[in-house]
Amino acid sequence: MKKVLRSLTAVVLSLGMMSTATVSSFAAGSPSVVHTHSAKDGSEKVVTVATCTTKGVKSYVCKDCGKTYEVVGAIDANNHSSDAGTVVNGLKTYKCTRCSAVLKTETVMTTGSNYTTTTGATVTVLSATTTSIKVKNVTTKGVSVPSSVVVNGVTYKVTTVKGDAFNGNVVTSVTIPSSVTKLNAKTFSGDKKLTTIKINSKKLTVGKNLFSGISAKKKAKIKVTVNKKNMSAKNFYNLRKELMKQGLKYKNIKRK
Ligand SMILES: [Zn+2]
Ligand SMILES: [Zn+2]
Repeated sequence: MKKVLRSLTAVVLSLGMMSTATVSSFAAGSPSVVHTHSAKDGSEKVVTVATCTTKGVKSYVCKDCGKTYEVVGAIDANNHSSDAGTVVNGLKTYKCTRCSAVLKTETVMTTGSNYTTTTGATVTVLSATTTSIKVKNVTTKGVSVPSSVVVNGVTYKVTTVKGDAFNGNVVTSVTIPSSVTKLNAKTFSGDKKLTTIKINSKKLTVGKNLFSGISAKKKAKIKVTVNKKNMSAKNFYNLRKELMKQGLKYKNIKRK
């Protein structure tokens, strides 16, 4: 009986109960019979349950020929059921509560909040287009602060360098890009090996205690070079005055 059933070809009718199928039966020793199966009341069984994306399968017993036949698609797919979304690092991800498929993602970064870039830097969103940055995980001696960062596909201009930005005691040389207009208090805190700072800003305001944790002797050796093409003489004088107040030497601060 079962061997014969496997050779049946069921054609699902698109209309009606979805429980009828036209079949050609070629059972050995019996004449060819062609008829449309018709389900016996109460014979319906679920063979395969529907998932979020695939239809289910039901079987029926034919009231005319007594054979069991299956109808693929007799159970509608459930479709996905979205959760309320979870936010991680500014990216909101909606998943299906049944199958965990990711249904949608959206960027939800907000002003004043902190995020991590793909390079491991910590940024605080200052406006729709600007951030402040802490260049974490510094393992190289020379560090260039990036002029822009990308978080979840959104590009921000880096305008401010945060306090303790370089994770202490490794960095010897720091380059500040032209996009940066401000160094927050304690930017170079604990950077005891720092000897060189290159500044490409047009104008740079600096917070207090930029070099906290660095001895007076080491501060006296830090050389600052300001890009003459970018910064005016007036802005340079103001910056030099401030850097000297914070322990750097006149002869080491140059605009060229
Ligand atoms: Zn039948
Ligand atoms: Zn699902």
